[in-house]
Amino acid sequence: MPQTATLESNHSLTIVWHRRDLRIDDNPALHAASQQGAIVVGIFIFDPAILKSMETGGGKVDFMLGCLRELQANYQQLGSDLLCFYGEPVQTLRQVAEAFQVKQVFFNCDIEPYARQRDGAARDALKGIGVELKGFIDIGLHDPAAIATNSGEPYKVYTPFWRNWISLPKPHPYGGTHPVGNRPPRMDKIANLGNYDRACQQAGAIALPTLSELGFSHNQILPKSGESAAQSLLDAFCDSNLILRYKEARDIPSQAGTSMLSPHLRFGTIGIRRVWQSAIAATDRVRSEEEANGIQTWQQELAWREFYQNVLFHFPELAIGAYRPQMQRFEWDDNRAYFAAWCEGRTGYPIVDAAMRQLNQTGWMHNRCRMIVASFLTKDLLLNWQWGELYFMQQLVDGDLAANNGGWQWSASSGMDTKPLRIFNPMTQARKYDPEAEYILQWLPELQGLTTAELLSGNIPPHQCRKHNYPTPIVAHDTQQRIFKSRYQAAKDV
Ligand code: FAD
Repeated sequence: MPQTATLESNHSLTIVWHRRDLRIDDNPALHAASQQGAIVVGIFIFDPAILKSMETGGGKVDFMLGCLRELQANYQQLGSDLLCFYGEPVQTLRQVAEAFQVKQVFFNCDIEPYARQRDGAARDALKGIGVELKGFIDIGLHDPAAIATNSGEPYKVYTPFWRNWISLPKPHPYGGTHPVGNRPPRMDKIANLGNYDRACQQAGAIALPTLSELGFSHNQILPKSGESAAQSLLDAFCDSNLILRYKEARDIPSQAGTSMLSPHLRFGTIGIRRVWQSAIAATDRVRSEEEANGIQTWQQELAWREFYQNVLFHFPELAIGAYRPQMQRFEWDDNRAYFAAWCEGRTGYPIVDAAMRQLNQTGWMHNRCRMIVASFLTKDLLLNWQWGELYFMQQLVDGDLAANNGGWQWSASSGMDTKPLRIFNPMTQARKYDPEAEYILQWLPELQGLTTAELLSGNIPPHQCRKHNYPTPIVAHDTQQRIFKSRYQAAKDV
């Protein structure tokens, strides 16, 4: 056994274990660590179990690597470092704690079942060697364990959750009111540590790997990653009219009417308290009821995010299947050819196909379109929502278990929703939300030359389909929704 190198310093060292909080600003764990009077070093552990999971796609990993590059550069600029490791997280963390002789490891808590189990095991393992693992609330504005109905039960329905959630005082960003200039103290001391390099070596630190070293590739054109990109998006949305017009603009997929912050909220390149603060600051510019509604509607979406986190926290079984027993019995089809057509954006329904092309090419899809394609997969193709849930996780840069599972269970009528049977008519949706077929043509350029009426009809004439190398509809909406309803009834009657 090699001897542990003794760190030569008058200062103790504290570790911040980053996972989905890839930022310096408004970071509760980092803020608390930096208040300890210890030298703070960040670590990130590449977990082979997550990297090898079917849910992990190349675009998402690439985005994450970009965030890590910026986080590492930010740490280094502060005189400290972000160290990277590859391995089973609990074992790796123990190794790191031993090599650096730390007394405490700080981290921000997660709500996903795998993460909670991992963090519990890490806490026990560190305790065994006299190290404290200190967790902080970060992903949402409130601790999910602290939000309950009057009878002390967790919420299952959004509206009462929202009423309670919005009435609670909201925490301020950690580290000050504005991100620029707020630097955690005592981070410039790493150079004072003798034997630091040797400890890094003993802990098994590696250089930040490349995408191909991690075994991934992809063809998506990704959004900008990292903390600075996230802050720019937040400023662009909240300091402009976008947030004020959100209520109307958010449903039009051809417009850039939403914040595009979801990949950043997924990887924590922006703090949720910072986001909330910006939304509140925008209220100073409100001149009409519509504008006030714009801000409130955006806040309600942030609350949806937190609602889904809450239900997953309290009902982790949601992650593995339908919540409603009726939908656990539902008889789904097993048509792989239909599924392939849906994934590739070749169903013959332009609004569905445009949305799937947007997803495949950019790793992001507009919310209205997520609802349309999810309804189409389940109610028109009669395919199990979990196939779609997995495909979304593989393709979405913002793929997030709580929001994705929540969105899919809502669309499939399998979740906690009080109005379960929703069937979207793709033609009606297209006419209402893409009336000029701008979104359709942006993602299906092969359909240039067809009239708007044809593009929205759901019934492009076969000769036009041949000419434009585009499929005729693979199913008939009216027939399929009738079948769905009868199977839904049959599952109910059991
Ligand atoms: P904005 O409209 O600007 O909203 C701000 C933020 O609020 C978003 O970034 C997001 O964090 C949150 N938010 C907005 N709408 C929702 C919602 N309906 N549910 C939960 N949170 C919301 N969102 C994800 O972040 N990851 C997912 O994997 C995901 N999968 C989805 C799957 C389906 C089937 C559906 C219907 C929705 C899914 N959503 C998911 C929710 C929503 O579509 C995206 O959050 C939103 O489109 C992101 O765009 P934006 O950042 O511009 O959002």
